[in-house]
Amino acid sequence: MGDVAARLAEIVGEKNLLAGDAIPEDYTHDEGLSLEPGKPAYVAKPASADEVSALLKLATEHSLAVTARGSGSGLSGAARPSENGLVVSFERMNAVLEVDTENHVAIVQPGVTLSELDEKTAAADLTYTVYPGELSASVGGNVGTNAGGMRAVKYGVTRNNVLGLQAVLATGEIIRTGGKSAKTSTGYDLTQLIIGSEGTLALATEVIVKLHPRLAHSATLLAPFTDFDKVMAAVPEIISSGLAPHILEYIDAFTMAAITYTAELALGIPDTVRDASQAYLVVGLEGRDSDRLDADVEIAGGLLSELGATDVYVLEGPSARKLIEAREKAFWTAKAAGADEVIDVVVPRSEMSKFLTRAKELGTASESGVVGCGHAGDGNVHLVVFQKDATKRHALLRGIFAFAVEVGGAISGEHGIGVAKKDHFLALEDPAKVNLMRRLKKSFDPAGILNPGILFDPVLGE
Ligand SMILES: Cc1cc2nc3c(=O)[nH]c(=O)nc-3n(C[C@H](O)[C@H](O)[C@H](O)COP(=O)(O)OP(=O)(O)OC[C@H]3O[C@@H](n4cnc5c(N)ncnc54)[C@H](O)[C@@H]3O)c2cc1C
Repeated sequence: MGDVAARLAEIVGEKNLLAGDAIPEDYTHDEGLSLEPGKPAYVAKPASADEVSALLKLATEHSLAVTARGSGSGLSGAARPSENGLVVSFERMNAVLEVDTENHVAIVQPGVTLSELDEKTAAADLTYTVYPGELSASVGGNVGTNAGGMRAVKYGVTRNNVLGLQAVLATGEIIRTGGKSAKTSTGYDLTQLIIGSEGTLALATEVIVKLHPRLAHSATLLAPFTDFDKVMAAVPEIISSGLAPHILEYIDAFTMAAITYTAELALGIPDTVRDASQAYLVVGLEGRDSDRLDADVEIAGGLLSELGATDVYVLEGPSARKLIEAREKAFWTAKAAGADEVIDVVVPRSEMSKFLTRAKELGTASESGVVGCGHAGDGNVHLVVFQKDATKRHALLRGIFAFAVEVGGAISGEHGIGVAKKDHFLALEDPAKVNLMRRLKKSFDPAGILNPGILFDPVLGE
């Protein structure tokens, strides 16, 4: 192993290699709840695709498990390193290489955080619209998880916003997929295969992302409902209205109380309305022209009332921002409250009401707390689970996931499978598809060095 350490140091430079006890605890986990950390033997911080290539060649030679790491904000344990493996941390590859205002794309290194990219694109009045709640997340991590976030209802998720990659294969080969052009019909779409593969197929070393014009005006409407089913029934109606919200979130009453308390946010909702509310819809609208936006706000307010909202509040700039931030930080509020798991099941929008009713019944039957909020416009339900008993929690999650699959949904809409949901995924997914995925993994990564144990059981050195 001394030899391995010396060769790793040769590749990235001694000061960019951490080994053994010098590795800070932060590198041993991501933000997935109730997961054991994994202690890597090395953390290497490359500065270029060539260095990543050399690292992977060395890892293949020594059957060293490799875990790519962006910012470690993932919620499924997909960036949790293998015991005694190598973490390739992209923190030094954090440059925005180009903002191309003609083609509306940016070329970035994977370690760029969403807040850094936002700052760079703002200067050109453009924006990268993938916006998971955690702005310290990296673009490489977005690619790894196919991240979504609140704006996906209008702009789509990562796979809809990445046009191409530079990626390093486990063999050390460096490939380019896609490009700046808007489309391609040229063989298998390797960009899309790598997106969402949780660091198991290849490591992204450059990402070409789509940019959109930054719209100058926005408004946020908050609508409390006394009846949960009406909230869910309102969602497809709002989508059908053509108002094209860029945010369409639901927040249940428990979660709203918790996040507003934590953020010390007073929304001006009378106590009687608040006490009678089962859930809230948050509708974000944006536009180029303030008069047109005002007209849309008027229409949206009327529609929400027709659909059963007790009242509709148009939040002023600072309160709107604070509410969205509080919603983005719902995970931290849940974690501070002792949550044992956060899941992100996705179902067809039309099935959300049925799904949530069943999830709550299952929670009650297993004496667990099940509360939440979610990207309602995408049918993406984030449930916070309070159940300390691991066996009971596992059985509850299996029931919830199985029901999601039964109604045409999936275990994860945006956080990925990682280690947290692996055995549910393997139990509920079509075995023919899992076998095909395994064969794809084998073609990309014959020695099984890339994130072994994520998605499938480890096959390192097979
Ligand atoms: C408070 C909070 C709110 C969140 N809200 C959302 C949300 O609304 N929507 C959402 O989708 N997610 C959300 N997340 C989850 C998380 O922010 C996203 O999954 C994000 O994409 C992870 O980015 P990261 O840089 O932290 O990746 P990491 O956690 O470091 O890694 C995630 C995965 O990507 C792989 N990876 C990292 N870099 C590369 C690379 N260069 N090439 C290949 N694979 C790579 C890793 O191996 C791992 O499998 C939230 C997290 C928190 C803490």
